[in-house]
Amino acid sequence: MTTKSLYGLSPAEIASTLSLEREYQGRQIFEWLIKGVTSFEEMTNLSKALRKELKEVSPISSKVLEEQTDSTGAVKLLIELHDGSPIECVLLVDKEGRQTACLSSQVGCAMGCGFCRTATMGLRRNLEAFEIIEQYVHLLRVGDNITHLVFMGMGEPLANLDEVVSAITYFHQEEGFNIGLRRITVSTCGIAPAIEKLTKLNLPVRLAVSLITANDEQRNEVMPINRSFPLKELKRVLIDYQAVYKKRITLEYVLLSGYNTTQENAKELSEFIRDLDAMVNLIPYNEAAELHWTTPPHQEIEAFTQELDKQKVPYTVRYSRGREIDGACGQLATNLE
Ligand code: SF4
Repeated sequence: MTTKSLYGLSPAEIASTLSLEREYQGRQIFEWLIKGVTSFEEMTNLSKALRKELKEVSPISSKVLEEQTDSTGAVKLLIELHDGSPIECVLLVDKEGRQTACLSSQVGCAMGCGFCRTATMGLRRNLEAFEIIEQYVHLLRVGDNITHLVFMGMGEPLANLDEVVSAITYFHQEEGFNIGLRRITVSTCGIAPAIEKLTKLNLPVRLAVSLITANDEQRNEVMPINRSFPLKELKRVLIDYQAVYKKRITLEYVLLSGYNTTQENAKELSEFIRDLDAMVNLIPYNEAAELHWTTPPHQEIEAFTQELDKQKVPYTVRYSRGREIDGACGQLATNLE
């Protein structure tokens, strides 16, 4: 009986993986797993004989190595996967007390965005669906009412689309975690063909795009993906996504001091969002030791937002929660060897 994880499996698959005599036992185990119970010992409606039989099996493949909490209530977990790879996930708590699980989709990332700590790791590998689901299960132990999921941890979710979609389908199923698709946000640096694929999947999750700048020259510099799929192409697939799913898109705009905060940048941003139903999230950059960018001072942010007001661009300024523990946007990176 070998299994890496029972997460991601249906009750029938659990029964067959564990060679159980009765299918209902697979459902009983499934129901415990959904509650976050990962030890057969605690699955009290299983017979003693079965619990003894399963003693050597672990339903979960990863473990938490470290937990850090900051003053906003954000909790970051460092998780070790079955092959020893490290990943991080974060529980974010907003001012209203809403709890959001921020999940990783890859170990590291290949996209090379110039403002992102994860990029400094390079890509080690994609996560499998069960490894994505298990992050949420670990976070259930620290969050008592997680209602939202965002794929904004380590990695580019759309570069691992199949596994991300299987995880989302598992999260969404009614008899499972039952998380509504409109409460799930997938973030991307702008892989246009993958956005097109998502549009065709009939999976109306929310989309967040790391835009950073609406100037092609700058974007080529700071986000290499733009050299393959420039702004015009990105906008085209976003318009198509919106025509199908009718959902407002979030454009993440990390404010890099002295770089993407000029009046010209504001005008270009206003031009980009024309024909899109989009909300711009302005995120003052979180300084990281290994990168040279700095957080813009208050006056710089003020001047930029004044121009956005003039251009009638809808925006919010989001001071990333979790920044004290390096759990904010673009800040997840592990150096565990
Ligand atoms: S911002 Fe996202 S896509 Fe870009 S390098 Fe970081 S994790 Fe990868």
